[in-house]
Amino acid sequence: MSDGKRILVAGGAGLIGQHLCRRLLADGQYVICLDNFFTSHERNIAEFLPNENFELIRRDVTEPIELAVDETYNLACPASPVHYQHNPIRTLQTSIDGSLHLLRNALRTNTPILQASTSEVYGDPDVSPQSETYLGSVNPIGPRACYDEGKRCAETLFFDFQRMHNLPIRVARIFNTYGPGQHPHDGRVVSNFILQALANKPITVYGDGTRTRSFCYVTDLVDALVLLMENPDNFSGPVNLGNPDEISIRRLAETIISLTGSTSEMVHQDLPADDPKQRRPDITLAEQTLHWKPTTSLTEGLTKTIDYFRRLDLSNFPPPVR
Ligand code: NAD
Ligand code: UDP
Repeated sequence: MSDGKRILVAGGAGLIGQHLCRRLLADGQYVICLDNFFTSHERNIAEFLPNENFELIRRDVTEPIELAVDETYNLACPASPVHYQHNPIRTLQTSIDGSLHLLRNALRTNTPILQASTSEVYGDPDVSPQSETYLGSVNPIGPRACYDEGKRCAETLFFDFQRMHNLPIRVARIFNTYGPGQHPHDGRVVSNFILQALANKPITVYGDGTRTRSFCYVTDLVDALVLLMENPDNFSGPVNLGNPDEISIRRLAETIISLTGSTSEMVHQDLPADDPKQRRPDITLAEQTLHWKPTTSLTEGLTKTIDYFRRLDLSNFPPPVR
């Protein structure tokens, strides 16, 4: 049994969570993964189950919890627009009630807790790149608000627990992250385009393809989360974590078609409501405080992700339970 820390990873079976669990186990920690598998699959963490330093709690984060822990990462929340808009009230509850329960548990144990916040707190930004001082441009009543405002409210809760109780908090504003382990029915752009390209099916570009995003490979992001949690100065953020290399969605489609050798062609579909026009993180603060910057190029990361999806037996992945 590990004599490392007892670390709770809520949402530990998801895209980022599974890579974080792998990293923490490799570091010699005892990992407790809490997940309700809403947007993930037990296969993602199957390799960890025989490990005596890994424990799975199948549970909803909106239920109160009392657990002895040394650290908590709160990643539990659907992240794909398709999933978080499926039941927007549940999404808000997940961000707000989930954060509240985990914060209370962290307070009880007086231990550090990290919130996986998001670039969506900036909404459809008027400035580029986005730095942490930008207060955002969020439509509070649109279809993305359940996610954006839920995450904004969670940030508020974290900072109020810090102000009221001096709780050691960390808030990471994560920008678009991709990689192996993403659910094939996730619905986000990288997995959609790769699966469409591998099947030589039309690539569904929403709008004219001029929307931009900046994509970070998942293990780079996990490195940053661990550095943030472990930072000796108790730096709480909020801090942008992402890859500043900005790319248009059309260029992303062309890159994936080229890397897969696909015969797919692009088809244009309607843009979803409130789809942000641009997104690029200013990561100066992360570079200065965590001495971190991403090292995986988009081509390298996409190649690994394509390889993962090429090998995946899709029949093992029914659409997520809704
Ligand atoms: P994901 O959907 O792959 O993983 C989320 C995990 O949380 C899944 O395993 C899901 O089953 C679990 N979950 C959802 N609701 C839950 C609930 N009520 N109780 C317990 N578990 C629940 O998403 P991801 O990309 O791994 O994102 C992880 C976190 O990082 C999320 O909080 C997300 O908002 C945040 N984030 C991700 C990105 C990104 O681009 N990947 C960007 C910004 C922020
Ligand atoms: N997008 C697309 N085709 C898809 C999925 C997404 O063109 O099949 C676009 C979407 O409109 C957005 C960008 O890709 O402009 C990123 O979408 P995603 O859902 O991955 O994440 P978001 O950054 O919007 O939360």
